[in-house]
Amino acid sequence: MSTRTCRTSRCPSCKGQTLTGLSDDTLAWSVQVDPVPLSAQGEALALLAGRHTYAAQRHEGRSVRLHQRTRWQIAGTPAGARGLVVFDVYADHRCGAVLPAAAVSHLAPAPRGADSDQPPF
Ligand SMILES: [Zn+2]
Repeated sequence: MSTRTCRTSRCPSCKGQTLTGLSDDTLAWSVQVDPVPLSAQGEALALLAGRHTYAAQRHEGRSVRLHQRTRWQIAGTPAGARGLVVFDVYADHRCGAVLPAAAVSHLAPAPRGADSDQPPF
């Protein structure tokens, strides 16, 4: 297993479940994220709270690596978007910080017309 592969772990302070990995391929640091995939609204709330967000991307079909999201990635590929590239977005772990249920990707409503060939008007 590569050192870039993220793994499940526990926060040493609150003992909450987290994912731990390096923040990127170069000039990286160790990060812990809450293992709850975010919606676009959830990512915005996390960023407003001063948290960083990370995309979990599958590498060579097996390992999962974290990549810190830039403002261009956040705007161009919103968290929870259903497109050609599908990946989950997570917020860095803050002990006791809980985002509202609407911030979670799997609870967010599907985009209008996402699974349809009908135009959205
Ligand atoms: Zn904690």
